[in-house]
Amino acid sequence: MIYLDYSATTPVRKEVLDSFVAVAQEKIGNPNSLHRLGVEAKQLELQATKQIADILGCKPNEIIYTSGATESNNMVVKGVALQYQNRGKHIITTQLEHSSVYGPMDYLQKKGFTIDYVKTDTFGRVDLEHLKQLLREDTILVSIASVNSETGLRQPVEEIGKLLQQYPKCFFHVDMTQSIGKIFISLEKIDFVSFSAHKFYGMKGIGCLIKKEHISLEPLIHGGKSTTPFRAGTPALPLIVSTAKALRLITEELDENFKKVTKYCTMLEDKLKQYPNVVINHNHFCIPHILNISVMHTKPETMLHALEEKDIYISTQSACSSGTTISRAVLELSKKEDVASHSIRISLSGFTKEEELQEFLIQFDTCYHQLDLERNS
Ligand code: PMP
Repeated sequence: MIYLDYSATTPVRKEVLDSFVAVAQEKIGNPNSLHRLGVEAKQLELQATKQIADILGCKPNEIIYTSGATESNNMVVKGVALQYQNRGKHIITTQLEHSSVYGPMDYLQKKGFTIDYVKTDTFGRVDLEHLKQLLREDTILVSIASVNSETGLRQPVEEIGKLLQQYPKCFFHVDMTQSIGKIFISLEKIDFVSFSAHKFYGMKGIGCLIKKEHISLEPLIHGGKSTTPFRAGTPALPLIVSTAKALRLITEELDENFKKVTKYCTMLEDKLKQYPNVVINHNHFCIPHILNISVMHTKPETMLHALEEKDIYISTQSACSSGTTISRAVLELSKKEDVASHSIRISLSGFTKEEELQEFLIQFDTCYHQLDLERNS
């Protein structure tokens, strides 16, 4: 098997799974119980949370554990709207967000909020001048993902954060699901950050919302005590500890992985661009972990299944938006509808091996010519 869909999800790392199992079996107490088992579990929870906070550059009490980035995104978009609606009902985002940001935005629009979409430049990056024009007295939230999941396009979130410092009544949310563990981004000028552990070899079912200490937020899930008052439920200690481990390991390897993945991405791009029907949807603002291409005159799912026959796994759009015919993210980047309706995503990781990519290229060539023959018959 050749797995090239790491941006959809990653396999759990053995060490991470081992820590999950050990904690699940050995630290059985509820961290909020008063007895010794509870106290031991609480100590472990605090230790893991401090480790995550130190790595990411935030405070431990700013971390809210969730079930994943979808919940974190819902929590921040709806929570800010509920908490600050008296201040304003205007929100700004982009056409490049994940469905878990669009979904709550659409919901809020139906409830009377105004959602504006900031334009992008020729590279697909947020147009800062347009953002300035859109910002109003009643803007309560700007939500922009650091890296787009389909194209790998990186947004200038540090610059946007700097600009938004002039608007103290407006919060800045960054969905970092596709950047944590791949590139370093300072959280200094950002109010809210979302991510999921399964994108960096952690377990599925856990994510975080980082919320700066001074900000209050209306919870989505009310109930009993957890790790913070913002999301109720018994703390999922095995998931929390395993996330700290996954984050520590991926952060230690970040630079080395970046170099390796850059080399692989360049090699793939150089080979694939030689095919007359292939358009490379990758520019120098895209992270190397994601290579988006369009194979023209062939349905993306036809290429996906042809490669699947060879036990090679890539993706059409992102797993959460596949099913729609045109990729909004590729459209923003290429500005061409036919290119945006033929895109496939190849996503790499530090686990990718050069031999796998050589084999992928051989099989891609076979599929390309087979599909070409079918087209012309
Ligand atoms: N945001 C982005 C940018 C993503 O890529 C994803 C996962 N594809 C999500 C949010 C949602 O993450 P999850 O499915 O883990 O909730």
